[in-house]
Amino acid sequence: MMIYLNGKFLPIEQAYIPVLDRGFIFGDGVYEVIPVYSRKAFRLEHHLARLQDSLNGIRLSNPHTNDQWCQLIKQLIDYHDSDDQYIYLHITRGVAKRDHAFPVNISPTIFMMSNALLTPPKELLQKGVLAITAEDNRWGRCDIKAISLLPNVLLRQLAVDAGATETILLRDGFLTEGAASNIFIVKESKLLAPPKSHLMLPGITYDVVLELVENHALPYDVRPVAEQELRSANEILLTSSTKEIMPIVSLDGKLIGDGRPGPFFHKLNQLYQHYKELTMRGKQVSSS
Ligand code: PMP
Repeated sequence: MMIYLNGKFLPIEQAYIPVLDRGFIFGDGVYEVIPVYSRKAFRLEHHLARLQDSLNGIRLSNPHTNDQWCQLIKQLIDYHDSDDQYIYLHITRGVAKRDHAFPVNISPTIFMMSNALLTPPKELLQKGVLAITAEDNRWGRCDIKAISLLPNVLLRQLAVDAGATETILLRDGFLTEGAASNIFIVKESKLLAPPKSHLMLPGITYDVVLELVENHALPYDVRPVAEQELRSANEILLTSSTKEIMPIVSLDGKLIGDGRPGPFFHKLNQLYQHYKELTMRGKQVSSS
């Protein structure tokens, strides 16, 4: 498997970074995950804009222009067999003597790899998945896509331990997001989305969902979602670039709605798949 590291494409077995890399020592870096359908990076400009926001958030300058990123990503896609892939892009502050303060005059470490993208199988979307809840104990800048993911790792493992797919996070009695996804609920046929803030990652899929409901005149509201509303929701939906849109049918062992994926999920997923297909065919499309 060919990966990109600091200006070169090379087999992953030959790719090494020094142990003093600040990504390894401090988790001092940011990342992106970009889905690729039919060899085209999906919503690439949005992912690059979020990367810029994350870099600004950790005060690291962007090592490449967007045109350069596009070129590198295209080359990486070309190295891989699968038509559908997901790119993992990772930038750290670089290698320096261990000291918390920013080092001067060092170069960032830039790493990218691509793997085959396997979106959730149809049977799973027909059945739905289970989730649990946990208190959101992460830091106050969850809008930065930071590589330091220990809290997310621990929270996500709670779901795995419980035989569930995702841990839904609550902070001060309100829904924030999932350990590795954004979360929407449906209440009385209306989609409710927690508003973007420092307490959640502004998901690229979250944006697509809101564009789709707006453009197709489906009822929705962007407003804080209280724990009680989450627990009594008619439907709960999970979104992410690799999982797309998934229906959650049980929360902490209690059925959501009738325990089957609901009509809002089916409609939204249909719109999402259609939008994806149009984008893949290379048409100039909006999400309407
Ligand atoms: N929130 C968190 C914490 C995530 O890790 C992710 C991505 N895995 C998301 C939300 C969803 O973001 P996106 O739709 O851009 O993949």
